Order: sequence, then C-alpha cells, then structure tokens
Amino acid sequence: MAAGKLSATSRFPVVNSTAGQLADEPSPPLQVSEEMRSMTGTSKFLNRREIVGAAGGGLAAVTAVPATAQTKASTGSPMTDPTTKYPKPPFKKQPQPWPGLASKMDPRPDHGETSYKGSGRLTGRKALITGGDSGMGRAAAIAYAREGADVAINYHPDEEPDAREVIALINAEGRIGLAIPGDLRDEAFCEQLVAEAVKGLGGLDIIVNNAGRQQAHASILDISTEQFDWTMKTNIYAPFWIIKAALPHLKPGSSIIGTTSEQAYDPTPDLYDYAQTKAATMNYVKSLAKQLGPKGIRVNGVAPGPIWTPLQVSGGASMEKLEKFGGMTPLGRPGQPAELASIYVQLAAEDASFATGQVYGSAGGSGQP
Ligand code: NAD
Ligand code: MG
Repeated sequence: MAAGKLSATSRFPVVNSTAGQLADEPSPPLQVSEEMRSMTGTSKFLNRREIVGAAGGGLAAVTAVPATAQTKASTGSPMTDPTTKYPKPPFKKQPQPWPGLASKMDPRPDHGETSYKGSGRLTGRKALITGGDSGMGRAAAIAYAREGADVAINYHPDEEPDAREVIALINAEGRIGLAIPGDLRDEAFCEQLVAEAVKGLGGLDIIVNNAGRQQAHASILDISTEQFDWTMKTNIYAPFWIIKAALPHLKPGSSIIGTTSEQAYDPTPDLYDYAQTKAATMNYVKSLAKQLGPKGIRVNGVAPGPIWTPLQVSGGASMEKLEKFGGMTPLGRPGQPAELASIYVQLAAEDASFATGQVYGSAGGSGQP
C-alpha cells in the first residue's frame, strides 16, 4: 500500500484502519489560526500545494521559520514563576466523549505551538509518535519537527480535527508530517502503522509509545472485563506490537520512549487498571533497555504527573476531580503538555547517548520518580 507519502495530490494521507486501505482524504484549505500565523508568518490559509511545498522545503515563508526560531533561541526565554505560568484550578466541568479533543478544552492546553524553539537537536531523524494528535504526544510532535525531525503521528480516527492541526504545524517547519489514524487495540493495525511510517518517512529512528487509555472507576466492581481489556490492549499490548514491528528497522543510535506515569509508583484508588499498565510500562522500559542496550538502541520513559489533556476530560478523571485538577501539587496547578516536550526531545537526542532504562519525571513536585 502506498500510504503515508506526501504527494502533490495528497497533503494529508490517511490510512483507513477499518478497511486497512489508504483513504486520500479530500481536504479543504487549512485555516491557519492567528497563533500559527504569527508563528510562521504565513497567510491565513495554506493550500495543499503550499503545504506540500513546505514539506519539500519549497515554501520560503514557511521554511524561514526555523531560522527565526533559532534566532529567538539564542536570546533565551524570560524567567517565569512556575506557580503562575499556567492556569490553576478551579476548572470548569467539561465532560467530553472519549477520546476527547484538545481543541474543545477550556482552557486549551498548551502544546508549545507558539513557544517551543528548536535548535537542530533531531535534524534528519524519523519519528513515530502514538497519540500524536493531543497532549504529550502532540507536544513531542511539535518539538521534534522544530528540532528537524520528520514525524508520523498515530491517533484514533475520532481525533481527526486535532491531528490536522498537528500535521499543519509539522509541515510549517518544512518537515514531513504523516497522519496514520487507526485503533491501536488491533495487532494488524499496529504492524501496518509501523510499515506505513517506515515507508512514508523512509525509515525509523525514534518510536514514542505515548497513546494511553485512562478511565476512572471508584470501585474495581465497576470495571468490566471489556473495559479492563481495553486498557490493557491500548497501554500494554500496542507498545509490544509496535516495538516488535519496528525493531528490524531500528539502527544503533535509535531511541524508544514510553509514556508511563506517576501512577506507576503511587497509584490512586480510582485508577486500578490504568495504574498497573503504567507500572508495566515503567517495567518494560527497564527490561528492554537491558535487552537492546548491546544493540545500541536506547529505551526510556517519561513519567508525567497531572497534565491538562483530553485524557482527563474524557473519562480519565471525574468532573469533581477535574475542577481541582493539579491543585494538590506543590506548584498548585496541573502541568501543560508543552512543559514536557523537552524531555521527549532530550531522551531521543544524540547527546543523551548514555541514558537508557531511565524514567524522567515531571510532576510539579508530586509523585515519583
Ligand atoms: P491525550 O488524550 O491527549 O492522549 C492520549 C492519546 O491516546 C489520544 O490522543 C489517542 O490518540 C491515543 N489513543 C488512546 N486509545 C487509542 C486507541 N485505541 N487507538 C489509537 N489511539 C489511541 O492525553 P495525554 O494525557 O497526553 O496522554 C498521553 C500519555 O500520557 C498516555 O499514555 C497517558 O497515560 C500518559 N499520562 C497522562 C497524564 C495526564 O495527567 N494527562 C499523566 C501521566 C501519564
Ligand atoms: Mg487526542
């Protein structure tokens, strides 16, 4: 299947997971938000050809962005108080059906759209990020593109609107942005995902197993076998299938990153099934790091604390918990995905060559490690 390649006719290639076929979506011109315009200096609308051109390095206005970012990076960022940098509770109750959209959250999460500045740390790398449409995966996707990587993102088909924004941001950096929607609970799809990413990017160097399923239940008695299985399939089986499929393509110097959680070490009572998958993630990071170390492939994890993402508004937290979300941390607020982007970059970057089997935390003073 010839999915995943940017062409003059298909800016936004999608793989239809149910049919297992390439569906070249006819996409209308992408509206570029005020934020993105100020960031890229582009006009309000990018047509497909412009974005394809950008991916090939042909759109001067867009390809000029990394240079601007470099200049800004050299001047540094102003110091801010982490307790007041981002919104604090109370938050509005805002239930969304699973899997939820970042674009419908209030306040909208910050994935680094206007703030992340690259400095060539991942130039020429090829990355696959699951859950790349929103939350930590989106923050990593934006950062990776700004560091010079081509990026394939996987997401659930219901998350197309969020994914479109991410692909536009990747393309605005002059990098290939590959959209591969599909359900990770399906082994055949996971294999297809890796194959499409390898084909569309021309190889793979970085795998970020970041997608996750989290549904809060007050009692173990409220968790059906189907629900339990859903959590296990998404959080444990999918990384297993993806890593197996990707391994033959990974050269020495490649990097595998899993998103675990403070829940791995300090589980809350309402996340019985989810928390154990995060302990499993932390554990596979450590066993696989030992197994793949001699092959020169590094395996690491990121352990976030409470982060403001769609996962929390689509069943991950009760609305009562959401109102106070992050308020218990010493910083008095939840983290934003943008605040973890540099960790995903660091773990993939060449200068982290001695880091393997590590789990880096970011939890506002709560949680472990
Ligand atoms: P998110 O909702 O933005 O991302 C989760 C993503 O998982 C979704 O965007 C979706 O694309 C993907 N996904 C889930 N089930 C899928 C399926 N069956 N098929 C395909 N894709 C599927 O939320 P997030 O908080 O950024 O989550 C990213 C990771 O961070 C998860 O592994 C989560 O467990 C972990 N995490 C989150 C928090 C937090 O407080 N938000 C804390 C610790 C760890
Ligand atoms: Mg999402």
